[in-house]
Amino acid sequence: MAHTGQSFDAIVIGAGFSGMYMLKSLRDRLGLAVRVYEAGGTVGGTWYWNRYPGARCDSDSYIYCFTFDKQLLQDWEWSERYPEQPEILRYLEHVAKRHDLKRDMQFDTRVTGGEFDEKTNRWTVRTDRGDEATAQHLIAAVGSLSDTNMPPFKGLDRFKGKWYHTSRFPQSGVDFTGKRVGVVGTGATAVQAIPEIAQQAKQLVVFQRTANYCVPARNGKVDPELVRARKADYDGVVKRIRESFFGQEHYFIPKSVLATTPEEREREFDRMWDAGGFAFWLANYQDMFFDKKANDLCADYIQRKIRSTVKDKVVAEKLIPKGHAYGTKRQPLDTNYYETFNKDNVLLVDAATDGRIDEITEKGIRAGGKEYPLDIIVFATGFDAMTGPLKALNLKGRGGRTLDEQWVNGPRSYLGVAVAGFPNFFTITGPQSPSVLSNMPVSIEQHVEWITDCIESMRRTGKSTIEPTSQAQDAWVAHVNEVVNATLIPTANSWYMSANIAGKPRAFLPYLGPEGVGGYRRKCDEVAAKGYEGFVLA
Ligand code: NAP
Repeated sequence: MAHTGQSFDAIVIGAGFSGMYMLKSLRDRLGLAVRVYEAGGTVGGTWYWNRYPGARCDSDSYIYCFTFDKQLLQDWEWSERYPEQPEILRYLEHVAKRHDLKRDMQFDTRVTGGEFDEKTNRWTVRTDRGDEATAQHLIAAVGSLSDTNMPPFKGLDRFKGKWYHTSRFPQSGVDFTGKRVGVVGTGATAVQAIPEIAQQAKQLVVFQRTANYCVPARNGKVDPELVRARKADYDGVVKRIRESFFGQEHYFIPKSVLATTPEEREREFDRMWDAGGFAFWLANYQDMFFDKKANDLCADYIQRKIRSTVKDKVVAEKLIPKGHAYGTKRQPLDTNYYETFNKDNVLLVDAATDGRIDEITEKGIRAGGKEYPLDIIVFATGFDAMTGPLKALNLKGRGGRTLDEQWVNGPRSYLGVAVAGFPNFFTITGPQSPSVLSNMPVSIEQHVEWITDCIESMRRTGKSTIEPTSQAQDAWVAHVNEVVNATLIPTANSWYMSANIAGKPRAFLPYLGPEGVGGYRRKCDEVAAKGYEGFVLA
């Protein structure tokens, strides 16, 4: 039943990690009346939607969790190094129950619009269920990667088989047994899904537009001794990841790779490769992200690994990235990805050598003029990242301005947590915050706690609105771009650079601070300590 005329202190959009903790924080710490609207059928956010085979988190499980609940850190046992999608969902359900979150959440409800009323200083929010409610504070906890990118392939409506997007996979799963399956895309999602689908399918055709540098995840059971040691030192773990660069226990080697001997760097590369996970990406030589010559040495190591793993030399060459520097796109972690291309039932169709996808036909996919017959197509084509889910909320700030209008040349925010002209509106892990360049729960908890402190301070000091000044926002946008422009990241056509969506203005979406998430946290705390410097409180 639709509710109209309801009024809350705060409305939170989304019930993933961020919306769950935001509710907990505002309700149980500040005693506010909060309503959470969630489009999915239960909590989970990205873990509710991304149910494709092989879906698991690429951060180690011991740090991919809430740290506010110290007892739960001790009690919860993750089954593997990287938690699998169903296990994360179970964990989040457990948290929801443990903290009685669902009573303030409304599921199967998508926010379709909202506007700020300059007379009452409140937001009105509407949903696809016909609800209309008002609140002083509006918090977007919509996730960075939740707006599906389904490219408009010609002919898709003609396809007689079944097709799915990885981020909207059916709850009941998909049986690939005995089927001819096409996977479109070779990003982090496809790299997880392809080896799993290849095990079931009769034939798998992978349509690659851009090859990626993949490194082994090395998933498995974690040594019980290590689990015990981490639990005994969780305060230390939490302190370290909060102060770290990427919200992980990874630290760059404080040396130029160009200053090493071939033997020394080979030893280090082997060590990182054997460690698996993000070590090769985030704990490599410090100049890897800055200097193309340094980067080439790291890339060369992976290229040699691809050549030694993939038996067919032509296929190996197709799998070697040609046009971008290593690490400038999100690092996919793989379990038998390159090995999968040694299987007889797996075919790689590379846009550069075999031709781009021309169209979807009744029977399958035509690429480079050749038709590949398929029973099922899986689109692993990613997301309209970071700005997409926020724009989709159709919010109107002061003077009826929309985020579409504000962000016509790319995102503009202050600290990635607020937008000028949108009073009392906060974005958890919003554009131009570390977000996707960090272990997400670390950044989520930081934003939730900062927003809660901010609202608490407003109530204590009797303020009814807060919003960034356009000067503070301009300075932040300039800083975000200046820092990233000193790296190799803008040289790649990545979704970090908004380059995956035709027509999306090219702009760097997250924030890569010179001192990482630790430095960013200090900056946010400093802003608060100076009476919310850069914001207007009225
Ligand atoms: P993605 O990285 O954007 O990859 C999409 C793939 O589809 C790319 O290979 C892209 O090619 C291809 N593609 C897009 N449009 C196409 C078109 N019109 N024709 C042909 N190919 C097309 O998306 P994703 O793999 O879903 O990953 C997105 C992000 O989600 C990751 O980077 C990561 O941050 C997150 N993720 C996290 C986890 C985890 O930790 N559990 C797992 C998976 C994903 P181009 O490269 O040429 O654009």
